Amino acid sequence: QAGEKESMYLVSEFAAKFFQNTMMNTDEGKSVGLSYFKERGFTNDTIKKFGLGYSPEVWDAFTKEGLGQGYKLDYLDKVGLTILREDGKHFDRFKGRVMFPIQSMSGRVLGFGGRILTNDKKAAKYLNSPESEIYHKSKVLYGIYHAKQAIAKLDNCFLCEGYTDVIQMQQAGIENVVSSSGTALTPDQIRLINRLTKNITVLFDGDAAGLRASIRGIDLILEEGMNVKVCTFPEGDDPDSFAKKTPYEELIKYLDENAMDFIQFKASLLMKDAKNDPIKKAELIRDMVNSISKIPDRIKREIYIQECSRIMDISEEVLFNTLAQLVQKDI
Ligand code: ATP
Ligand code: MN
Ligand code: MN
Ligand code: MN
Repeated sequence: QAGEKESMYLVSEFAAKFFQNTMMNTDEGKSVGLSYFKERGFTNDTIKKFGLGYSPEVWDAFTKEGLGQGYKLDYLDKVGLTILREDGKHFDRFKGRVMFPIQSMSGRVLGFGGRILTNDKKAAKYLNSPESEIYHKSKVLYGIYHAKQAIAKLDNCFLCEGYTDVIQMQQAGIENVVSSSGTALTPDQIRLINRLTKNITVLFDGDAAGLRASIRGIDLILEEGMNVKVCTFPEGDDPDSFAKKTPYEELIKYLDENAMDFIQFKASLLMKDAKNDPIKKAELIRDMVNSISKIPDRIKREIYIQECSRIMDISEEVLFNTLAQLVQKDI
């Protein structure tokens, strides 16, 4: 039903404006929300560009305003901004959080991410809008609206984990950047990038979770027939914290010099882990060949087999035999 979806878009756009207005023009918004973003190093221009906002620390401030402006409770509920309780009471999902509107490729607001301001480990750091008719988490990339032109022009896409990574990188002058924000990377998200470029550079956090996510992401990207590089960050850094403290020229240089193709990336893990352990080395080689087997293009597979052979110091013949077991078709 077109009318229903359109109503959901309208409610979402109203909400984005409400959260922005609350942050920029109310005492609470300025002293709590705006100062939080300022502390993270975001400029006014950046805050405006990404439509960042603040949801008041009142249990139904947004819902009340929405209803007052004539938006139907049904739609406030459908986009998940309002939660209806069994007893008929309603309250704001994002109360007391700073707000990141999530935009489609064409710039429409689909949903929100909301961050708590404290480092309270008990509460979820980020909350996202629930799935709805207009917001499908697995098909959305945060930042795509602001990045799409640069991705096509530079023929490469930097893929990060979080909202603030995208924002800080954009502010630093790196515009071809998106994030999967709140979901493990999905094939649909990769296909969204595939419309703009065949090249992805994964920039995940410099921690164990980031490493795991990079490894998972690689195979998904290869399966889509795209080229993948990985650039890692020092332990404890993510693209946000790294970009914040690094001058533009140096940042560009770092990204350029540290982007490895996936074979090099996997080999580098072994160097850290167990350089002289033959069992681990064998496991890793199998793992590399498994990734190579995901590549649809036969010529590319051969080139990566050659690289793997060279880097891991093992014969191409053995690698091709292993590959043949994994790839039935086309060989
Ligand atoms: P910050 O710098 O604000 O602390 P971050 O972006 O570095 O946050 P990470 O912990 O690295 O946060 O997580 C990466 C992304 O995963 C977040 O930006 C967010 O989209 C999502 N995320 C993190 N924690 C949660 C959570 N508890 N619930 C849902 N999504 C989350
Ligand atoms: Mn992380
Ligand atoms: Mn992070
Ligand atoms: Mn971070």
